[in-house]
Amino acid sequence: MAPRFDRIVVLGGGSAGWMTATAIATGLRGRSSVEVVESEEIGIIGVGEATFPSIREYNRLVGIDEREFLRATNGTYKLGIQFCDWLARGRDYFHTFGHFGNLSGSQTLWGQHRRVGLTEPLGLQCVPTVMAMNGRFALPDEKDPQFKYAYHFDAVQYAAFLRKLAIERGARHTTGRIVDVVRRADGGVAALVLADGRRIEGDLFIDCSGFGSLLLGRTLDEPFVDFSHWLPVDSAWACPCERSGEALTPYTRATALEGGWAWRIPLQSRTGHGHVFSSRFIDAERAREQLLAQLDGPPVAEPRLLRFTTGHRRRFWVHNVVAVGLSSGFLEPLESTSIYLIQDGIGRLMTLLTGGRPLVDADREDFNEGVARRFARIRDFIVLHYCLTRRRDSALWRHVASMELPETLAFKLDAWRRHGMLHQADEEGFDATSWLAVLAGMDHWPERDDPVYAEVPYERAVRALQSRRHGIAAMVERLPAHHRTLQHVVG
Ligand SMILES: Cc1cc2nc3c(=O)[nH]c(=O)nc-3n(C[C@H](O)[C@H](O)[C@H](O)COP(=O)(O)OP(=O)(O)OC[C@H]3O[C@@H](n4cnc5c(N)ncnc54)[C@H](O)[C@@H]3O)c2cc1C
Repeated sequence: MAPRFDRIVVLGGGSAGWMTATAIATGLRGRSSVEVVESEEIGIIGVGEATFPSIREYNRLVGIDEREFLRATNGTYKLGIQFCDWLARGRDYFHTFGHFGNLSGSQTLWGQHRRVGLTEPLGLQCVPTVMAMNGRFALPDEKDPQFKYAYHFDAVQYAAFLRKLAIERGARHTTGRIVDVVRRADGGVAALVLADGRRIEGDLFIDCSGFGSLLLGRTLDEPFVDFSHWLPVDSAWACPCERSGEALTPYTRATALEGGWAWRIPLQSRTGHGHVFSSRFIDAERAREQLLAQLDGPPVAEPRLLRFTTGHRRRFWVHNVVAVGLSSGFLEPLESTSIYLIQDGIGRLMTLLTGGRPLVDADREDFNEGVARRFARIRDFIVLHYCLTRRRDSALWRHVASMELPETLAFKLDAWRRHGMLHQADEEGFDATSWLAVLAGMDHWPERDDPVYAEVPYERAVRALQSRRHGIAAMVERLPAHHRTLQHVVG
């Protein structure tokens, strides 16, 4: 008999827990009950502040109004990320969520850009990059969107916002610390036991307990697949500061430093800063000093140190436990993918729970394979930012420039170098345009031009590039500054 999931228990009240509970309370209303258990004493990690465009799809599916959401979470718009000093000190580039244009089917503008030997950044051919460079933001035309966008927000406020929504839709909320887990004869979980002795029984348990991975990791002992050879960062200092006079930039900044990199995330009323670093290559005190030197203004809290290992649990759904969020794994936040991975896990889970048929073992296997591939694809994309560096000025950069790459990434880079091909596998988190943005930003190009580019007369190629660049520049000049659009939306 296939199991029924009448009672779903979510362990954890961070972004993962409340995003999952809201999706269940919305999508399974009247079919399954959902109860969230969280410990106020343990609290939430609360540092996930930059997101990926898919967050808009999640918000839309659970019926969140953008204006209300931005007001409640101190939110701002995000067009992408500016990477400073990754290729070499003093060099920067943008990865935004927009394309670079085509002349026709196989005639990409990036190809012509290379062929005619332009030295200006390829980003000038990309609408959201030019918007970001000029601090402008306007919502895209929904009928013909030229770009995607995401948000920066306060993760603690986002969890609180979702909590209210989920409870309004029938989710139960229990606070207290889980001190024991009662197992079923088949190895699954039967109940969670709170410190005061209360038992919370369920049919399906969603482990959103953060880095502790209380159910999947500690209770079911699912092995961890370690990525730290390729992604050696293992610590972060996080510290918000007062907003400075600098304009409210519609992008995240990631600046490469001696032993890691620093983030800058502008919110309406403060700026989030952090330094993600590898303790193998820099000690924590020096990393803290480097973070404090990056702040825009006076800190509004003491810097907080977080420790982690990059990688994921081998499987994500074992018996009746599904891990979502940090309990399932973690990739460093360079491309703001943690909340995206949460959403991805929820999407897969909801597809199965709302499918109207009993689940079979193969569903769980597909779930596990799909999530593991997604982690691996995103890992490759993050490693791409490091491995093409020309920096050799510290041990971290020498390590990442010479390390052996994951085979899947080595294959992709080879396809690009030899044939100018942007190879896409299944479960990619980032499309070919994103790969191109980073490859171009890191000045890494195919060894020879595709001969079809030469079929276009030189002058025509130059005209097409100039015309697109001028068109974008003129259009962006007419757009309002980011803070003006935001003011208009949030009031
Ligand atoms: C340095 C850093 C920077 C990051 N930046 C970003 C970013 O820019 N963008 C992004 O998308 N993500 C980012 N993330 C990741 C992001 O913070 C998390 O993915 C997100 O907040 C989800 O966390 P979570 O809900 O899985 O865990 P948590 O927020 O840690 O929540 C865990 C929950 O489990 C509960 N719990 C744990 N144990 C027990 C127990 N025994 N009994 C009862 N309750 C318990 C806790 O009380 C809490 O409610 C970052 C992470 C780090 C470390």
